[in-house]
Amino acid sequence: MFRIWFAVLALTLGTAVSASAAASDIQQVRFGGTDDETRVVVELSAEMEFRAFTVSDPSMRLVLDLPRASWSVAGLETGEGLGFGLVDDFRFFDRSEEASRLVFELDHPAVIVSQFAIPANDDNPHHRLVIDLRQVENTEFEAESGFPEPNDLSQLIAERREATFVAPQRERRVIVIDAGHGGRDPGAVANGVHEEVVNLAAALDLRERLMATGRYEVVMTRENDTFLTLEQRVDVARNADADLFISLHADSGGSNTSVRGAAVYTLSDSGAGRAQRRAANSNDWSHVSASSEQPVVRNILLSLSLREKRNRSAVFAEMVLDSMGDVGPVLSNGHRQRGFYVLLDSRVPAVLVEMGFLTNRQDAANLASPAYRGRLMQAVANSVDAYFDRDDVEDADIIHSAELTPIP
Ligand SMILES: [Zn+2]
Repeated sequence: MFRIWFAVLALTLGTAVSASAAASDIQQVRFGGTDDETRVVVELSAEMEFRAFTVSDPSMRLVLDLPRASWSVAGLETGEGLGFGLVDDFRFFDRSEEASRLVFELDHPAVIVSQFAIPANDDNPHHRLVIDLRQVENTEFEAESGFPEPNDLSQLIAERREATFVAPQRERRVIVIDAGHGGRDPGAVANGVHEEVVNLAAALDLRERLMATGRYEVVMTRENDTFLTLEQRVDVARNADADLFISLHADSGGSNTSVRGAAVYTLSDSGAGRAQRRAANSNDWSHVSASSEQPVVRNILLSLSLREKRNRSAVFAEMVLDSMGDVGPVLSNGHRQRGFYVLLDSRVPAVLVEMGFLTNRQDAANLASPAYRGRLMQAVANSVDAYFDRDDVEDADIIHSAELTPIP
């Protein structure tokens, strides 16, 4: 699968920077990735809240704020070290009795693509904070940089707790299945196969398999040949407080009839920006703190919610892709990201499955076959089981996303 490597760069030696009564030790700072997509990993002895942001003044920096932590990185007793990729070097500061800060000097303008925490687990005894950076033009960097509101980390932590969406406790998980197209929108048509028909047949098949487990409540966006707007499909997921949204489609390769295989799409970066604007404009704050009246705070909360959703969607996408690969061909780099409208809800983990290419004769024949579709949908159903099987979905999702999110 995906390979992530971390460069551990230990350099300076010197006098100890230590803090007494700290709740957690910073034990390691690692870097991975490339010169223009760099991952920063901070390892801690215990779980800790944090926030990361970039500033452009007095220099280009990534700032990581933590509650009071003590610095105990072996070999870096001065609290300083060299960076890698987009990071030149870094320094640790005790800011007050309550707060610590790590400052990373940037080599080039960069934005934070994602930031998340990974609890300790069987494979790694450390708690990890992960920040992914991507190099951008200076104008984008300037636009994204600045000290965030609220200024106070503890306030942000309180808000963040409220922002984390937890689907209501229910006896059964709620899965929304969206059969793409329908009615006056036939979707792709090739080799005598109509996408809307195949999508619906697969969706009904998947519903049956999920219902048979007795574990799920299944909500369909459509059960027959009717037309729905994309907005209506997203609304179905939101109104159902869905735990998972699966949109089923079949692809078209245009005149390239040789391209074949399944792919799974999750929300792209640009899509995430669009999702955030969409939620901001729709004034839908039902899933973030009602007490946060300030738009700037609400925007932070929204992006946190969105980050959670994208992490979970990525975990599920990888599982579906693995599982479908046992049934039929999947595209190389089969987990792709795009700003598809049906993926835009800021909360419900969502994937769009392209089951194959109707423009390819063999894929079209497969998707027209109820037996093949059945095997493919069983693979999807198995992934749904596996996704919810884990003991603690919240924690496990984040663990997996870190392992599965590749840095190219
Ligand atoms: Zn389609």
